[in-house]
Amino acid sequence: MLQEVHVGHKFLADYQSVVVRPLIEEIRELAEGLKGARVLHINATSFGGGVAEILYTLVPLMRDVGLDAEWRIIMAEQEFYEGTKITHNALQGNALGLDDSQKKIYEDNNRMTSESLGKGFDFIVVHDPQPLMLRHYAGDLGAKWIWRCHIDTSTPNEEVAQYLLPYIQLYDTALFTLKDYVFKGLEIPIKVIAPAIDPLSTKNMALSPEDADYVVSQFGVEPDRPLMLQISRFDPWKDPLGVIDAYKIVKKEFASVRLALVGSMATDDPEGWSFFTRTVEHAGDDSDVLILSNLNNVGNLEVNAFQSRADVIIQKSTREGFGLTISEALWKAKPTIGGNVGGIPSQIVDGKSGYLVDSVEQCAERCMWFLDNPKKAKEMGRTGKEHVRANYLTPRLLRDYLKLFTELKAKG
Ligand code: UDP
Repeated sequence: MLQEVHVGHKFLADYQSVVVRPLIEEIRELAEGLKGARVLHINATSFGGGVAEILYTLVPLMRDVGLDAEWRIIMAEQEFYEGTKITHNALQGNALGLDDSQKKIYEDNNRMTSESLGKGFDFIVVHDPQPLMLRHYAGDLGAKWIWRCHIDTSTPNEEVAQYLLPYIQLYDTALFTLKDYVFKGLEIPIKVIAPAIDPLSTKNMALSPEDADYVVSQFGVEPDRPLMLQISRFDPWKDPLGVIDAYKIVKKEFASVRLALVGSMATDDPEGWSFFTRTVEHAGDDSDVLILSNLNNVGNLEVNAFQSRADVIIQKSTREGFGLTISEALWKAKPTIGGNVGGIPSQIVDGKSGYLVDSVEQCAERCMWFLDNPKKAKEMGRTGKEHVRANYLTPRLLRDYLKLFTELKAKG
């Protein structure tokens, strides 16, 4: 089954104040040739994680510039998500693959879902592996099909990659975040397009320090104590345990430091709860470690407040397709530390706009440096903000999609 996601309204004109005028003009020009085109985005969840984050802005902006865009999510039984999480992990390099019964659940759910797709679309954009087989079961339906891969597939479990490959080959084109992620043996046209954040969303709009303080004080964060922060799903690849270990090292030098780990539970991520429990256990009974999730009412505004208030923002991932949280941190001009993996190095220029780290110890050292050098830390944050402005805001992503649609349309 597919369920429509309601996205509200966004207006490209509002973005004129944050991106350069030629970009807005280019978007309007491209959109002119695509007026009324029917676009369907499909993914697995409307809540939690980067894909949902992107579509909440991309879809209404596509509508605003004249396309008939919609977003639907695949709805399936729990076992389906257990299998697709294995697929996700395997594509990021895990040895564990799918057994025959898991493959059958995956295939059956895609087949059943394909029956509710309907017709009349010009472009169908399928995000990530969960709905990947829709193209196979639905046929082309007269649409151009695009597979958008958001994950780090640079060193996949080959068995799982080979299982999926024939289904990807059916698409008109595939989009990856980095060139390194392109599947070996893929013969369809590919494009490398980075994701983006919405600078005007509740999560990223400017918040005054007073407002940020006020919001986080409701979670017990005092205004005068240094705060380390990681925002991410409770997922081993995000390495929250490593962040806790780094915090413990920093704590020896900076006794007043606190750590906040904020992680939502995505509906398509059945691993989330067990890893949440492991994270809480790893933190032990240290009351200076705050572990929060959407179940504590941490929504977009609260995430914004935590990011705006933090003294150091960490994303210590060991695999990361892109890492929207890095762009979010830099957009707030924050001292930012990221794992030296996947899409993070394209966002952080090491030593200029933040730091890239390969270990817990290095992460702790960089945190302490930031806490010791607040002025330089601020300068680096500001450099990072301009890098995000030039490369990772939604209007650029919208432009890239419109360009792609225009090219595909011209191919007939
Ligand atoms: N996020 C959130 N609340 C949380 C945890 C994460 O709103 O408790 C958001 C985060 O701000 C970012 C997205 O979820 O916008 C995560 O995207 P990212 O690309 O960093 O990682 P993914 O979850 O897609 O692997």
